Amino acid sequence: MARSRTILVAGAGIGGLAAAISLARAGFRPVLLERAPAIQAFGAGIQLTPNATSALKAIGALDLVRERAAEARELIVGDGDSGRILARSPVKSSGRNYGSPWLLTMRADLQAALHEIARDNVDIVFEFGADIIELAAHQRGVTALTLRNGKTEEHLGIGIVGADGLWSKTRSQLHGDGPPEFSGYVAWRSLVPAENLPPEFSEPDVRLWLSEGAHLVHYPVAGGKMVNVVAVFRDSWTSQEWNEPAMLAEIPKALSGWGQLPRTILQAGTQFQRWALADRPRLNKWGEGCVTLLGDAAHPMLPFIAQGAGAALEDAEALGRHVRRGSEIELAFRAYERERQHRTSKMQRAARFSGKIYHAGGLLRRLRDFRLGWSGDRLIEAKSWIYRHGTGA
Ligand SMILES: Cc1cc2nc3c(=O)[nH]c(=O)nc-3n(C[C@H](O)[C@H](O)[C@H](O)COP(=O)(O)OP(=O)(O)OC[C@H]3O[C@@H](n4cnc5c(N)ncnc54)[C@H](O)[C@@H]3O)c2cc1C
Repeated sequence: MARSRTILVAGAGIGGLAAAISLARAGFRPVLLERAPAIQAFGAGIQLTPNATSALKAIGALDLVRERAAEARELIVGDGDSGRILARSPVKSSGRNYGSPWLLTMRADLQAALHEIARDNVDIVFEFGADIIELAAHQRGVTALTLRNGKTEEHLGIGIVGADGLWSKTRSQLHGDGPPEFSGYVAWRSLVPAENLPPEFSEPDVRLWLSEGAHLVHYPVAGGKMVNVVAVFRDSWTSQEWNEPAMLAEIPKALSGWGQLPRTILQAGTQFQRWALADRPRLNKWGEGCVTLLGDAAHPMLPFIAQGAGAALEDAEALGRHVRRGSEIELAFRAYERERQHRTSKMQRAARFSGKIYHAGGLLRRLRDFRLGWSGDRLIEAKSWIYRHGTGA
């Protein structure tokens, strides 16, 4: 009897869609189980650094994503209180080409592009409105039990990839390691019409303003018509939602210490969404048998180094490569995990560390600023271990 080619994928977010495309290219029939009723255009801006675009290229999705994105030109870091520029680092310059573009786009556009590619692939099956409630492994593989319109349904696969995000059911069933922990950081996001801001903010640069206990990042999206603004503060507010509406007046007092420029940028926003950043400790073992994890389910990434989507896309590319090698699915899953575990936990640590450095005060802040002034245009090079991955550069 021919062996089934069906691999279940839990979640049709960024990682799940990319994994389905990668698995289909490797000769499998992925079934995407997504609890939302359809692909929903959620999320604000997202940066796709060269490691992320290289993974997109490998799964055949870069051209479409690129159509809806701008290529970043420079990273500019400023002091949030004085408005002084501390460092400028060209993203792409002679002698420093990461072999793949650094793109600025919207999460919704990235997800829509991946969805389009997956939808056009006859091997990929979508099951929307399917909320995974339980998994059972057995001799034929794994059965996922989902709840749809109040009815339970069974889905059978030779394996399952848990790409069901930060609050992953797959992870909790496998490891029972409790919910993610709120990090004490809250992000405020807004899309500001570019016409409300100084014209240089429509240039394709990523600008980062640092202050004690807070930082602000902004870059243009939507063909330069809008500027994606994200401010992160220390705050005890928590919620599991990504998109809690909020008002500018509710922004924590930390803003009052900021200089004129970052305040102007924030005040240009009319609608804000709040996002309580959560984290999880490193998992020593991701999967078991014919179950594995991918993306935030395996390694949530604080957004300080902009690698949440990047790490999930890298996972998806690697997964396809390992299953393609033709070994038993369980062996392929373990080989994929071995390849990804060390790198993703290093990325998690780098993200946490960057948060501390961005928000530093006192002596640490002065040391940071001195170092920034000294590293200047080599700033991006310091994280080249992240950006060069998979690019061949
Ligand atoms: C609504 C939303 C908005 C976001 N906005 C931003 C942003 O603006 N900037 C940013 O940097 N990052 C954002 N992120 C996070 C970013 O997309 C992820 O960190 C990164 O892309 C890793 O992707 P992932 O596939 O692991 O998880 P996600 O992209 O979070 O996808 C997880 C998917 O699993 C589905 N799911 C969850 N539980 C179940 C279940 N029980 N059964 C079936 N399906 C399930 C979810 O509906 C979701 O589609 C957002 C995530 C979401 C869900």
